[in-house]
Amino acid sequence: MSSPNFIDFVKIYVRSGDGGEGSVHLHREKNLAKGGPDGGDGGKGGSIILKGNRNYWTLLHLKYRKHIKAKGGGDGARNNRHGADGTDEILEVPLGTVVKEAATGKILTEIKEHEEEKVVFEGGIGGKGNTRFKSSTRQTPRYAQPGKPGTECWIIIELKLLADVGLVGFPNAGKSTLISSLSEAKPKIADYAFTTLVPHLGIVSYRDYRSFVMADIPGIIEGASSGKGLGTRFLRHIERNSALIFMIPADSKELSGEYETLLNELQNYNPELLDKKRILVVSKSDMLDEELKEETKKAFSGITPVFVSAVTGEGTMELKDKIWDTLNT
Ligand code: GDP
Ligand code: MG
Repeated sequence: MSSPNFIDFVKIYVRSGDGGEGSVHLHREKNLAKGGPDGGDGGKGGSIILKGNRNYWTLLHLKYRKHIKAKGGGDGARNNRHGADGTDEILEVPLGTVVKEAATGKILTEIKEHEEEKVVFEGGIGGKGNTRFKSSTRQTPRYAQPGKPGTECWIIIELKLLADVGLVGFPNAGKSTLISSLSEAKPKIADYAFTTLVPHLGIVSYRDYRSFVMADIPGIIEGASSGKGLGTRFLRHIERNSALIFMIPADSKELSGEYETLLNELQNYNPELLDKKRILVVSKSDMLDEELKEETKKAFSGITPVFVSAVTGEGTMELKDKIWDTLNT
């Protein structure tokens, strides 16, 4: 499957609005020859703002917005009229979005929560009108401030958390089946043209409308430590997963041995992956009776497996609870 709809990276030129000019104006009335200054302040330019929205999973909606400019503030006017403030440009983004300055890679801000708002570039403030410069020694100032210009910049908006949970297991462990059975929605997958491996993603809904993304990255184990044909951009995804589920099928010959092998493979690929929080799943648990489960538990030292069957549904709620706890501690 190859679809251009999964976008995790966009580059956009943004510009916050200029502040409006302060006004130079002297008050005039028919029978008042010499009025005082009455030029109002300029309005503030619109800002470029990012806002978290948990219903977005990709940056597709920003893909074709190459230039985003917030409106400038209005100029001040006579009678001390303040210029209108420019409208902010609010870009809604998925949770786990990072914004960087394109030229330097410097992180400007990050969105983690639903409805969270972060100002990326503040609009320029408006200039003061000449009224503000009136003093006892200067009754009729004939100058005002210009507005401060907005900020322009090429930025990169990037999805940091492609997934919260990564599945690690040998082929046929039951990874794809589990993702399909747990998830309610499938984000469309990008054109991962740089790799022959296509990750399977699923959005798993949890109690109270919370959700997390699960990724099954087939072949990560087989090719991983030797780095065969894997684009580095692609591998970044598994590195971003904040927890890893190790999946061993119940019909494996030697369950604890297979777990050790998985750990070794990851260690060879990138030792930091072993610092991630881990959950151990024994899949296809419908193939085990209680006695075998007890024996299996004893075989693993230091980690307690969750027995899960995508066929009977056994353990799936327990697994979701465990994932949620792991992600939130
Ligand atoms: P993957 O290679 O890790 O993605 O594994 P798949 O999800 O493709 O599953 C491999 C095989 O195991 C398939 O034939 C599935 O039907 C079977 N399988 C997956 N989950 C279960 C399960 O919970 N119980 C049983 N008995 N078989 C399963
Ligand atoms: Mg699979």
